[in-house]
Formats: sequence, C-alpha cells, structure tokens
Amino acid sequence: MLRLPQFGIETPSTVEDAVRLLKTPGARVVAGGTDILPNLKHLLDTPPVLVSLAAVSALREVKVEEGALVIGAAVTLTEVSEHPLVREHAPSLAEAAGLVAGPLHRNMGTLGGNVNLDVRCRYVNQTKFWRDALGGGCLKSEGNVCFVVPKGRNCVAALSADTVPVLVSLDATFDLVGGEAPRSTAAQDYYRADGIHHIVKEPEELMIAIRIPVATTPRRATYTKWSVRRSIDFPLVSAAIRFDLDEDSSHGVITAAKVVVGVLNPRPRVVGRLDDVIGKKLSDPAVARIVSEAVHKQCKPLENVPYEAPYRRSMLRVLTRRAVRGLAR
Ligand SMILES: Cc1cc2nc3c(=O)[nH]c(=O)nc-3n(C[C@H](O)[C@H](O)[C@H](O)COP(=O)(O)OP(=O)(O)OC[C@H]3O[C@@H](n4cnc5c(N)ncnc54)[C@H](O)[C@@H]3O)c2cc1C
Ligand code: SF4
Repeated sequence: MLRLPQFGIETPSTVEDAVRLLKTPGARVVAGGTDILPNLKHLLDTPPVLVSLAAVSALREVKVEEGALVIGAAVTLTEVSEHPLVREHAPSLAEAAGLVAGPLHRNMGTLGGNVNLDVRCRYVNQTKFWRDALGGGCLKSEGNVCFVVPKGRNCVAALSADTVPVLVSLDATFDLVGGEAPRSTAAQDYYRADGIHHIVKEPEELMIAIRIPVATTPRRATYTKWSVRRSIDFPLVSAAIRFDLDEDSSHGVITAAKVVVGVLNPRPRVVGRLDDVIGKKLSDPAVARIVSEAVHKQCKPLENVPYEAPYRRSMLRVLTRRAVRGLAR
C-alpha cells in the first residue's frame, strides 16, 4: 500500500482566505484531489500544507456574462459535462469533460484541476521504489537525466488533460488571483514547453474561473481522444477541432478553423497551415483529408507515455479524419 506523506490541510470558505493561505511557502491547492493525491503518494511532491477548495462555494458557479461562458474553477467535471449552459455554448468542452477518467473521478475532479493537471510520463508517474530502481529518477523527480530524450536538458512529459486542447481551441482565458494583481491569461499562452514548470501560474496564484467567448456565428466543434480503455484511461493522443461557419449555416462554408492536439509534450499544439479549408464546405471530403494530413505532418508524439510513438502518430491521423467527418454529418 502506498502511504501519503504527512501534510497539514486548510479548508477556507472564501477566495480571499484561500489566497492568504497559499502564501505559506510550499503550500499547494487541492480541488478534487484525483491528480495531486496520487502524485503525493508517489512522493513527487511533499507540500507542508494543502489548501482545499471544497468549501469555497464562489468557485462553483456557471454563468454567461459579458459575452462569455464563465465556469468557476471548482465546478466538477460531471457538472461541466451535464450543465445546460456548457452544452449550449461549448458542447466540445462538455464532451471532453465527460471523457475524463471514470464517473467517480469526474464527480470529484474539477475543471480547474484538469487545467492545472501536472504533466505525465511513463518514467515519472511511478513509485519512488520504481524510480530508484532506474538509477535515481529523472530531471522531473530526483535525477539529472531524461529517459525520453537521453541527451535532452528539458523535460518533455505530456500534458494529458482532456479539457485543455478544447479550451485552447475555443480561445478560452483563465482568471488568476493571488499574484501582484489579478490577471487573465489566454489558454494558448498558459502552457510552456518545459515539463518541470509547465504552466505560467505562480505557486501562490489561485485559478478562479475559466472564460470561453460565446460564438457569434454558427460553429461546429468536437473533441476526440484515443486511449486503451474507453473509461478510466488518460488519452494517449487527443485532438480538439473547431470550425466557424458562415452566417447562413445552411451553406456550411468554413470561415475559420482551429485544431489543437494534446499529449505530445508539455504544451498543447495548435496546428497551423489550415488555410486550404477556408471557403470550403464542411461536407467537402477534402476538408477531413487536409486537416488529418496537417496534423500528421506537424505532430510527432514522443516516447513519453505508453504505446509506441509511431503508432500514436498514426492513430492521431485516423482520429482527426474521423472526427472531421463526424462533424460534417
Ligand atoms: C485513474 C485515473 C484516471 C484518470 N484519467 C484521466 C483522463 O482520462 N483525462 C484527464 O484529463 N485526467 C485524468 N485523470 C486525472 C484527474 O482525475 C483529472 O485531470 C481531474 O480533472 C483533476 O482535477 P482535480 O480537481 O481532482 O485536481 P487536483 O488533483 O485537486 O489538482 C490537480 C492540480 O491542479 C492544481 N489546482 C487544482 N485546482 C486549482 C485552482 N483552482 N487553482 C490553481 N491550481 C489548482 C492542484 O494544485 C494540482 O497541482 C485521471 C486520474 C486517475 C487517478
Ligand atoms: S520527459 Fe524526461 S525528464 Fe520529463 S518526466 Fe519523462 S523522463 Fe523525466
């Protein structure tokens, strides 16, 4: 049995108190605990105190405000997947939230926890005993080498959070408090290509809300993931796809396209060079081909999570082609 290390626990009921408690050196937020607690059991971190969001009711609201869908950071994934406002204004986010882990994890796990999920790697999400047997861990744990890129000086563990590619594809922003001043960061700029410090949030900052601009023209969007089992498993590759269509949606002509791929490295990858789909009808078979080929050319998975990288790359091409075809139906 894996034991938790010793730590204190604080349960503030207001955002102000949570922010004050987070100023304790080494303090960490716990929301649903479905990611941070297993990591503590693996001794990947030993914070002196966890600041629980369980009693901060202000972080559990979902509303539409000033042209944006606003979701409190402590709203559970079950609520995100079922909430009528999310299903109406961000159906691909509801879809992705409903695909995270299993039902019990989604009842506990929160959107803020998913957005701030630590990156994952087959060499680090292991017990300390396992890591020691490998010669003392890697750059992200106790060691000074990377087993994925042996001469690399940078951790390239994968961001495996299901909702993140979707939030980037929908141009979401994240509201943070507790730093020098409250600030809002674009989801696309929130992640760094550095698996040790993979988010721009400072440790004393608290994420309070996720904002998604409400679409002003017709939109078709979806999320697709490949994992070994349909339930419980993290994605091994994933993609969020969004097409904006002309005002007269009966034409289905694409005016904008954004495709974001997950589980490559610490940053979600925004796929470029999709200009050839603009002006085409979503029902045009060429669209699925153009998107899946762009994804295949630009996205090269690494050997950081289970299953061989070339196989995951092939799966990504198949997944994106099927997902675009599904949207056209
Ligand atoms: C068996 C298993 C399967 C899983 N499968 C999946 C999967 O398929 N897809 C997937 O995406 N995830 C998966 N997960 C991971 C996890 O369940 C989810 O990512 C979940 O959304 C995490 O949310 P949480 O509230 O439990 O986060 P926590 O564990 O409470 O926190 C996660 C991280 O976010 C930080 N954090 C949380 N809230 C805030 C906030 N408001 N402000 C600042 N920092 C914050 C914490 O400090 C911590 O670093 C799985 C986990 C398990 C155990
Ligand atoms: S990518 Fe390299 S440094 Fe990062 S967790 Fe994996 S083995 Fe460790």
